Amino acid sequence: MKNKIKELISELTLEEKASLCSGSDFWHTKAVERLGIPKMMVSDGPHGLRKQDLRADHLGINDSIKAVCFPAGCAAAASFDRELIEKMGEALGNECQAEDVGVILGPAVNIKRSPLCGRNFEYYSEDPYLAGEIAASHIKGVQSKNVGTSLKHFLANNQELRRMSSSSDMDERTVREIYLPAFEKAVKKSMPWTVMCSYNRINGVYASENKRYLTDILRDEWGFDGLVVSDWGAVNDRVEGVKAGLDLEMPSSKGVNDAKLVEAVKNGSLSEKDLDKAVENILNLVYKYAENRDETAVFDRDADHELARKICAECIVLLKNDDKLLPLKKDGKIAYIGEFAVKPRYQGGGSSHINSFKVDSAMDFAPNETVYAKGFSADDDIVDEALFAEAIDAAKNAEVAVVFAGLPDSFESEGFDRRHMKIPECQDKLIDEICKVQKNVVVVLHNGSPVEMPWVSSVKAILEVYLGGQAVGGATVQALYGDINPNGKLAETFPIKLEDNPSYLYYFGEGDKVEYREGVFVGYRYYDTKKMDVLFPFGHGLSYTEFSYSNLRLDKDIMNENDVLTVSVDVTNTGKVAGKEVVQLYISDVESSVKRPAKELRGFEKIFLNPSETKTVTFTISKRDLSYYEPKISNWFAEAGEYEVLIGSSSRDIRQTCKFNLKAGPLPIKFTLNSTLGEIMDAGIPDEIVAPLSSAFFGGSNEHDKENETLGASTAQMMLSMMRDMPLRAMVSFSTDPVQSDVLQKLLEDVNKYIGV
Ligand code: BGC
Repeated sequence: MKNKIKELISELTLEEKASLCSGSDFWHTKAVERLGIPKMMVSDGPHGLRKQDLRADHLGINDSIKAVCFPAGCAAAASFDRELIEKMGEALGNECQAEDVGVILGPAVNIKRSPLCGRNFEYYSEDPYLAGEIAASHIKGVQSKNVGTSLKHFLANNQELRRMSSSSDMDERTVREIYLPAFEKAVKKSMPWTVMCSYNRINGVYASENKRYLTDILRDEWGFDGLVVSDWGAVNDRVEGVKAGLDLEMPSSKGVNDAKLVEAVKNGSLSEKDLDKAVENILNLVYKYAENRDETAVFDRDADHELARKICAECIVLLKNDDKLLPLKKDGKIAYIGEFAVKPRYQGGGSSHINSFKVDSAMDFAPNETVYAKGFSADDDIVDEALFAEAIDAAKNAEVAVVFAGLPDSFESEGFDRRHMKIPECQDKLIDEICKVQKNVVVVLHNGSPVEMPWVSSVKAILEVYLGGQAVGGATVQALYGDINPNGKLAETFPIKLEDNPSYLYYFGEGDKVEYREGVFVGYRYYDTKKMDVLFPFGHGLSYTEFSYSNLRLDKDIMNENDVLTVSVDVTNTGKVAGKEVVQLYISDVESSVKRPAKELRGFEKIFLNPSETKTVTFTISKRDLSYYEPKISNWFAEAGEYEVLIGSSSRDIRQTCKFNLKAGPLPIKFTLNSTLGEIMDAGIPDEIVAPLSSAFFGGSNEHDKENETLGASTAQMMLSMMRDMPLRAMVSFSTDPVQSDVLQKLLEDVNKYIGV
């Protein structure tokens, strides 16, 4: 294949090469009939197949084929279930084969920096580890059917406002620790066939012509060997794009940009080698698909609908369940209130919008005696007194009122961001009124992103079903009545109010400049470090059973740099029904000298347990899991010292902890005369090398002790602190005995030699 492609490239004219580097229309690559090069179709994604024909658009406006809408990213991530998401990927890949689509555009792994991002419903999490794991599973599933994925939107596309021009500006640690790792994990674990660059700029440079990200990091550091495609219309300067590593421009630029490539090669501003590289990546993709076509694949919509329901059932998060109000009794007198009960909001607007072949509502599956009252419309925010009165009446006469609430389409979508975190006022008002006449109130939520819940303490139970796909109705009813036991966990924090969010003051930016000033403190990394109250924490989700955790053990107390630490914990189902628990592992660097989040997710496993059953869950931890990104060395670095493993049922429900030590070398940076004594003394350098420091400063440790006695503890403490913060050069003036420059130089040489720089 490789040789065949090289040969083909050698036969292409310059014009043909340039033309292959952009689409023939909205959804196809170009063919070169003369050489038998076929065209290939791509379609959106990520949670269903949006295959369009002639009336194409990238905003989900015109119709596409009838298909199956699986749970959107917000729900999928809440499953915390790698195998399940892989199955969803397999189904999507199979649908693509049946419909002759070579790449399905997704998954979308952008980090949920703020609850306001209009596209949060498509994204997975505020946590890069979780987003990366879920994305890797999705990719693995789709690609197992010989259909490509497009990991998007690379990079730092975290708002819709001015998405085609704004610059996401952040420091190196933030981009490495928060915004890159989900992409890194997905690339290294599952190697997507394509990566889609985003519309925005990153620190001033358009993603579509950003060599640092498209080539230096993506290809050279992570080993990506697929194709980079532009988001639809993301190209700024096509020639710069090819130089930076952007292979394919989508959709067609109608020949305009192709001509620019030809001209650039002719006038020497673009090397033909760079163009050949792009062409090679495009042909590799087209032939990888063409040569592995599965003409026998069948798009079985009913079977995939059933799978969509099963997946949805694993994504539902039980947020609250006072007095064990749920599960409901099937023969109870129950009222369903709110139009979402008959018209669920199950997907978001924009390019991911699926033309569902059927949609299940909760009422379709409700027990026969269930009473329904509309209460409010699913599409707007209007108080209708007659509907209110009818709903309040229904609630009053029932044993339990289940209110189906959430966000209308107009409140969140691709293309614009939310301005607040509220659900329509009419819904908040009706829930309040219902709580006055009914003590057993359940709220079922249809939303793609966190909402404020002013009624949280008045209702007894809350079931978060997110945008659960077209089969959401059936899965919701199963969860309400205990036919399935809820086992989803929040992939994002629900803050009490919008103003609590760490990006609140900087989100949207000013003009085109969006500064990520909260740095690495995104989501629970912020709330947990600040010990702030939240509505529902990251990782939270209840069950109809209970789990107890015991016997946390590590295979060693001291970890060396190249070791893998094995962590095991036993989990028991102590309740009366079978259930699944997501066991979460967080790491804390308890004595870090840099500012780090209080804890970071580094592992999770979802396990099924029958009543009284116990299972052991095992995780492995490597040095990278302990590391932060150190810009001084442009690399990951784990400080020597104490770390803590925290095992929990959510980021705020930690059940077991255990400490261990990492034995590691100091930060390999050259000390200079401006390094402080504290930095040098903390670097783990043997006493005999740093001895001249303490003896010169204190005239030996006895002197220090004597001083302590005469000066008193607080003065001694002050002296010690001042000494620690003093640069080495100041030893000349402040030490007991003057230190000659050559002694300092020698000390520096010895210290730097020891740390190997
Ligand atoms: C979106 C992408 C999508 C593309 C094609 C763009 O507007 O940002 O996520 O894949 O359109 O529809």
